[in-house]
Amino acid sequence: MRAPAVQGTYFDGLSARAHPVTLVLEDSLEINGRDLRLAWPLADLAAGDTARPLMRIGPAGHGARVEFTDGALAAALEERCPDLYRTDPSASGGRLRLVLWSIAAGISVIGLAIYGVPAIAVRLAPVVPAAIEARLGGAVDGQIGKILGDPPVCDDAPARAVLDRLIERMTADAGLPVDPAITVRRHAVANALTLPGGRVVVLSDLIDQSRTPDEFAGVLAHEFGHVAAHDPMRALLAASGSSFLLSLVLGDLTGSTIIVAVGQAAISAGYSREAENAADSYSVEFMRRSGGDATALATILERIAKDEDKDDGKAEFASLLRSHPFTTERATRIRAMAGTETVGRRILDETEWATLKGICRNVPPKTAK
Ligand SMILES: [Zn+2]
Repeated sequence: MRAPAVQGTYFDGLSARAHPVTLVLEDSLEINGRDLRLAWPLADLAAGDTARPLMRIGPAGHGARVEFTDGALAAALEERCPDLYRTDPSASGGRLRLVLWSIAAGISVIGLAIYGVPAIAVRLAPVVPAAIEARLGGAVDGQIGKILGDPPVCDDAPARAVLDRLIERMTADAGLPVDPAITVRRHAVANALTLPGGRVVVLSDLIDQSRTPDEFAGVLAHEFGHVAAHDPMRALLAASGSSFLLSLVLGDLTGSTIIVAVGQAAISAGYSREAENAADSYSVEFMRRSGGDATALATILERIAKDEDKDDGKAEFASLLRSHPFTTERATRIRAMAGTETVGRRILDETEWATLKGICRNVPPKTAK
């Protein structure tokens, strides 16, 4: 059953024009009006300072907002939006959460002094609330876009449909903590980056460089392994250390200096050997289960390693290599795990693969990097 629709007014944050809309609270806040269809993630929503019954909410950090006076919708949002009153936690159920987090952060700061950051990061990462991780992921995503020079998003509709079906097949019953959200951006470096909150940014050259759909899917499955293990959150905690914990206590989660540092780290730094091996094991398992060639990840890794050895100044793979180290050793391990029974299988047929390869046909040609 759908939640009841509530009348409201939408402002785009750029002009003063009021747009009449209907609001429906589902998994996100859906906003429908003439020529307008939006779905705002609940984790992003913040409320403005208004006198009841008027309520004004919008995605934090954005100018866009909706106003309404429906008490039931207000109550439901208060219950379901973790950060609705981030600057004023006492006004909602957010207070208890904040207190708990302050205690956790306090304990962790002590732990930091005793064990050092990485040990604490490993323990803390899986218990960071999903809503917080989602917001951090959004902030890091924006930051990475900036660092990479805002490469355009590739979303040719037929290609996107192939990709979505592939992701669906690979992650069904995979038990991931969140459904991964994959964005493809046109960029002349072959890489895939996993951010907190299950966001995966694929740079289009990775698709260009993949000779089979299974090579691409194998890398994607490896990134899903990082999602499963909360590795980006660990990296974020390790990179920002006590300043992140302090920002939790102070409530300034998206403190810009931290996010800049983390965005940079996500691009240039790799994970530990253990984390990479674990993600490879996931990849083998995902590929085996979803009908792909589990050894294709090893194939593309070996090609990357060779590409690097050549050192002809091109080194298309340099970035993927840097963020995914121990290439040759990993390839050997993957082949050993995968065995031979999946060799030669194709996770997509030729037509689907050709369609997926054209995912950037809707954006202008890439500029040389
Ligand atoms: Zn990795």
